[in-house]
Amino acid sequence: MRSKIVAGNWKMNKTYQETKSFVKELTKEVKKVKLDNTRVIIAPSFTNLQKASKKTKGCKIEVAAQNMCAMESGAFTGEISASMIKNVHVDIVILGHSERREYFGETNESLAAKVNTALKNKLEVIFCFGEVLEDRKSKNHFKVVEEQIKEALFHLTSDDWKHIILAYEPVWAIGTGETASPEQAQEMHAFVRELVAERYISDVSEEVSILYGGSVKPANAKEIFSKEDVDGGLIGGAALKVDDFVALIKAI
Ligand code: PEP
Repeated sequence: MRSKIVAGNWKMNKTYQETKSFVKELTKEVKKVKLDNTRVIIAPSFTNLQKASKKTKGCKIEVAAQNMCAMESGAFTGEISASMIKNVHVDIVILGHSERREYFGETNESLAAKVNTALKNKLEVIFCFGEVLEDRKSKNHFKVVEEQIKEALFHLTSDDWKHIILAYEPVWAIGTGETASPEQAQEMHAFVRELVAERYISDVSEEVSILYGGSVKPANAKEIFSKEDVDGGLIGGAALKVDDFVALIKAI
């Protein structure tokens, strides 16, 4: 049975002190929730990964990095490698977030290289994809999403897919307050699952968790999460407050 996942992407938010107190409070709250098949993940900035991973040890909160360099090591000033992430006991990395694509020039091709490096280093990947508003308006959203997934992920083996989590994040819904309707989310998630089913054995498409991201908040989470092919959320703004984040965990 595929996992349900609530993952918080903190982006460039929270200092060391803020990370410490957030994790302390979150740990306390998460202990009170019956999680069953649900995974809870937080993705702080690089400088706070080590603290977060230490503080969450032994409780059911996992920690992810928000990005990673495709190169293993060497003269790449300012970059962080997969082994550096693993070294602070972090086993998950978010790749392909739309902000990385838009502001830092990441492409399907460069993301394929990052995915390879992550898997080689035994990192689980939360792979983000999604169309911009013009794509949806021109009814190109399925084509764009298909390309993003095929070009970055379809060279992988079925076994590799055990370490892939997908996150559909329509760019027009990220941080805008505008959410895809539960039906729009379900339609795209079902399309993606079918795409994966056509390329791989059915175990892969049935087992891969597909998260929705884009202005998910306590008020709309239940409805979105209730859709058959929506296995949870990748959350930005609402992941920055313990109360909201816990409400999302409960919603699932
Ligand atoms: C995100 O950045 O991954 C995201 C979904 O942000 P928000 O929830 O703020 O729209």
